[in-house]
Amino acid sequence: MTLTLAGKRAIVTGGASGIGAATAARFVREGAKVAICDLDAESAQALALELGEQNCRAWSVDVADIERVTPFISDAAAWLGGIDILVNNAGIAIPGTVIQLDPANWRKIFAVDVDSIFYASRIAIPIMIAAGGGAVVNIASISGLRGDHALVGYNAAKGAVVNLTRAMAVDHAPDNVRVNAVCPGLIETPLTQAAKDAGLWYAWTSTIPMRRAGTAEEMASVVAFLASEEASYVSGSVIVADGGMDAATGQPD
Ligand code: NAD
Repeated sequence: MTLTLAGKRAIVTGGASGIGAATAARFVREGAKVAICDLDAESAQALALELGEQNCRAWSVDVADIERVTPFISDAAAWLGGIDILVNNAGIAIPGTVIQLDPANWRKIFAVDVDSIFYASRIAIPIMIAAGGGAVVNIASISGLRGDHALVGYNAAKGAVVNLTRAMAVDHAPDNVRVNAVCPGLIETPLTQAAKDAGLWYAWTSTIPMRRAGTAEEMASVVAFLASEEASYVSGSVIVADGGMDAATGQPD
């Protein structure tokens, strides 16, 4: 599929790995120019080199730190020559029930998964508006729509991402800024490696109607569509991409 992404100027947070890296690569393949940021400066830099320094530049940024995010968005906009697309992708999960989860980890999950979207969007959206509009894609999760086992901080944070997306979409629709969320199901990335290491992979994938995890590239396709002008009448939507998981009752077959 050829999307209308040629010449677009995009920012992807958490762009060094998994869904963020696949999205940055897909954007470059579609002819967009991409600024990525990540805590993992080395991997981010390696990806930028791989994608070509004229197409992709990497910044070392902790998205939970407003003092780092604010100048990053401005510097990225200066390098890109504007911002058409912002993908708020960086995210972490720390396990625990409400009894087990350390309060510092609760705050950390919210800082990385939710606060970061506020920090990046409040600088990027005015730049989009000044140039006539743009598209924001927030990476939420199926975990923002349902409860997992012992993942309360992540469930609450991703639920916040889902409704923050809707509120931003309503506010900025008149500005021609579309805001959508993607809710991936189980995707094979470093984030889910722990489940693999713990031998939980088969038990997990057997609950998915498609009987497999998704790939980062499959998520990048959804993000690319939402970011492109092909999705010109899509805003405030929460797109589930989960191999049918959310449609199932859980009845064993
Ligand atoms: P990943 O761990 O492969 O990639 C996340 C990237 O974010 C990493 O490069 C990491 O260094 C970066 N990052 C983490 N904290 C950061 C911070 N404070 N500042 C800057 N960068 C930071 O994970 P992924 O699976 O690609 O996840 C990407 C997004 O997709 C996350 O928001 C995650 O919650 C969401 N998601 C993933 C899955 C899945 O099954 N993998 C499912 C649903 C949602």
